[in-house]
Amino acid sequence: MNEKERLVKRIAQKSEDFSKWYVEVVQKAELADYTPMKGMMVIRPYGYAVWENVQRALDVRIKATGHVNAYFPLFIPETFLQKEAEHVKGFSPEVAWVTIGGKEELEERLAVRPTSEAIIGHMYAKWVKSWRDLPVLINQWANIVRWEKVTRPFLRTTEFLWQEGHTCHETAEEGQAETLKILDLYRDVCEAELAIPVLAGRKSLSEKFAGAQMTYAVEALMADGKALQMATSHNLGQHFSKAFDIKFEDRAQKLQYVWQTSWGMTTRTIGALIMVHGDDSGLRFPPRVAPVQVMVVPISVGDWKTTVLPAAEAAVAGLKAAGVRAAIDAREEATPGWKFAEYEMRGVPLRVEIGPRDVKAGQAVLVRRDTKAKESVPLASLNARVPAVLDEIQASLFAQAKAFLEGNIRDAADYDSFKSILENQRGFVRASWCGGEACEDRIKAETMATIRVIPLDEAEAKTAAPCVACGGRGEALAYFARSY
Ligand SMILES: [Zn+2]
Repeated sequence: MNEKERLVKRIAQKSEDFSKWYVEVVQKAELADYTPMKGMMVIRPYGYAVWENVQRALDVRIKATGHVNAYFPLFIPETFLQKEAEHVKGFSPEVAWVTIGGKEELEERLAVRPTSEAIIGHMYAKWVKSWRDLPVLINQWANIVRWEKVTRPFLRTTEFLWQEGHTCHETAEEGQAETLKILDLYRDVCEAELAIPVLAGRKSLSEKFAGAQMTYAVEALMADGKALQMATSHNLGQHFSKAFDIKFEDRAQKLQYVWQTSWGMTTRTIGALIMVHGDDSGLRFPPRVAPVQVMVVPISVGDWKTTVLPAAEAAVAGLKAAGVRAAIDAREEATPGWKFAEYEMRGVPLRVEIGPRDVKAGQAVLVRRDTKAKESVPLASLNARVPAVLDEIQASLFAQAKAFLEGNIRDAADYDSFKSILENQRGFVRASWCGGEACEDRIKAETMATIRVIPLDEAEAKTAAPCVACGGRGEALAYFARSY
């Protein structure tokens, strides 16, 4: 057994036991930890730094499209939740309630927000009076509680973090345009920042958000062949404005109900980053969201403290000044070999090794996490070369994930091949669907797959083939998959 094997934290092989690998990598890379409360996790500093990067990428785009941030209360009175019938029906099985405040029984119990349409709808009714008050474009960064039965770190937890946008518009067209604008914003965050390609489209009515008129989503494919919903954008129509009486005087002085949207992206995205990009050695973070983009490891041999260490420290300072999230691990108690394995497991995109011979030659060795390829670079050109390599890693991770996604979309002309694909290969199955809920239910019961999205593009969704389940007239091509 060599030193590296003896000292590193061992993790399960991703290729052998995906679920075990996922849980181990979350804990050993110190992204999150379990707590005594079932389904509640601690997001540790390394994991929270990933969330901060995702958050920043989203927040910049949310603001660039004219939205502003605000904050609404954590508790929602029960009567508010009950106003929209579908909404309460959809969420009541997973709501946590507050019934006592201090020592007093509350007259009306309070829901710990499972989502904020109800409290925000109530406030919007106060604030919106005229077409001049529109559009309302508000986003909130918050925590959410949904009492889940089966939980898994980042993917499904009782409490999670997210942003939720809530907008009001004058017309149905504006509401729909907003819904799709945000869907595209989410697609862009997934692809450009998380290096995760997605399928964007609408949900079937049985999969839509409780209370929405129509739900749209971006869906990604995890390495085990299961789909993960990355974000959703809902066109609420006038469902909530009628329930909460959000009316405005239009340009012709007539009272109208506003048209609304709501949309959210959560800490689930961290689970997706792990599952899409990770490998047998652990995590592989795309540089744009990696907490540490470059780890500099001085090789501690001989008189390294007077030769290697100053060169390594200068390299880190230079990289930081060039805008790179760089750090150094100069601890003496850990060997270079241990450090290499540790930062591989933690998914740091690029490692810079500097040893005594490198210092003499005036160079450093770059080691990419994604390919493990090595490259010698003159110390003088480190600040130019490192950002370029980080861009290459970002692009390469995206290209790999895109090839995986595209290679795992299969067409099924009949139900037997549909079932066989889900059983043997998983991934997305593209098939014709009649639009009937009975067929969706049957498919779900028999194959555990659901409609993830129906393409937005009418030409892409168009089908001449019969429904894959019942053989009736096909209404649209849909992407089916098993999902998280
Ligand atoms: Zn059918």
